[in-house]
Amino acid sequence: MGLFSFLNLFTNDIAIDLGTANTLIYMKEKGVVLREPSVVAWDDRVKKVVAIGREARSMEGKTPGDIRTIRPMKDGVIDDDEVAEEMIRQFIKQVKKGAFSGRPRMIVCVPSGVTKSEKRIIRSAAENAGAREVYLISEPMAAAMGVGLPVDKSEGSMVVDIGGGTTEIAVISLSGIVSDSSIRTAGNKMNDVIIEYMRSEHKLLIGTKTAEEIKIKIGSATELESELTIVTKGRDLIGGLPKDYEVNSVEMREVLAPTVNTIVQAVKNALEKTPPELAADIKDRGIVLTGGGALLKGLDKKLKDETHLPVSLAEDPLTCVVRGTGKVLEEMNIYYKVLLND
Ligand code: ADP
Ligand code: MG
Repeated sequence: MGLFSFLNLFTNDIAIDLGTANTLIYMKEKGVVLREPSVVAWDDRVKKVVAIGREARSMEGKTPGDIRTIRPMKDGVIDDDEVAEEMIRQFIKQVKKGAFSGRPRMIVCVPSGVTKSEKRIIRSAAENAGAREVYLISEPMAAAMGVGLPVDKSEGSMVVDIGGGTTEIAVISLSGIVSDSSIRTAGNKMNDVIIEYMRSEHKLLIGTKTAEEIKIKIGSATELESELTIVTKGRDLIGGLPKDYEVNSVEMREVLAPTVNTIVQAVKNALEKTPPELAADIKDRGIVLTGGGALLKGLDKKLKDETHLPVSLAEDPLTCVVRGTGKVLEEMNIYYKVLLND
């Protein structure tokens, strides 16, 4: 056996979930090997990456003149090609440490409403980052695979993936997406409305990280068994000095309600558009929620109350998409049908 085929044999094929908020990588036979925020710290003078992932995120809002922190993914697709490519390249380098070298095959997840030119950009970014072959899979399909839904059966399943930038709602049957819709309202929007509320109502300036902490710790979509409070640190808009402020879960629920309602309404619209036979399946089997945004307290209950359907939160919703893509990678001969054709 020549060296070339030997290397090929041990090439670690990978699956990538390139999310607006987080990037995850699954390596064949190893499982999830990387989970990092999709953030890059970029030096404008030398056009170089100075940090990626968690390290870059910790620099957000604190970088000196020439260094910028960039989130290269926006609304689920690549917004800054050059930076995205470099981010993918470096993440792959991290996971290949110690593994055999060689150019991997890659399956990359894309939002279901992605355009042809967006697909081209993702493909070429993956190729330039070192892929030998690139396959694409739609995110809701990957999420459904990750949840273990019977995607190759004729029964319909509904998956709602609430990420950072987008909420994707899809009905899946017979290895394909029967209908899908995507709205640009998800986890990031929740952070934004918290920042805006603190500024306008409490004259307190807070950053994204603080807003996200408030959302995760005390944010909710329905009443909590015992309501919560949290002390936030910000800057007083009037005096300009640092200030602590206590907020509670009741007021945060009101602040988040319009965003939550936009998501609920989008799910209702999708249900109305679902063909009757599949709607009957969904009525029996219910809706599965994936993505980090689905972790908002009470969101599953809220959707259940509003749609009168069974609603369940996927196990480990943040890794569903990449685990589903990993399943395809492990058994490509069985699941090739769920990959996108072009
Ligand atoms: P993407 O696929 O777009 O990268 P993710 O599925 O990784 O998104 O989810 C990221 C979003 O989930 C962020 O907006 C984050 O704030 C939110 N999130 C993560 N954990 C929680 C939680 N416990 N409660 C509410 N939102 C959460
Ligand atoms: Mg996602």
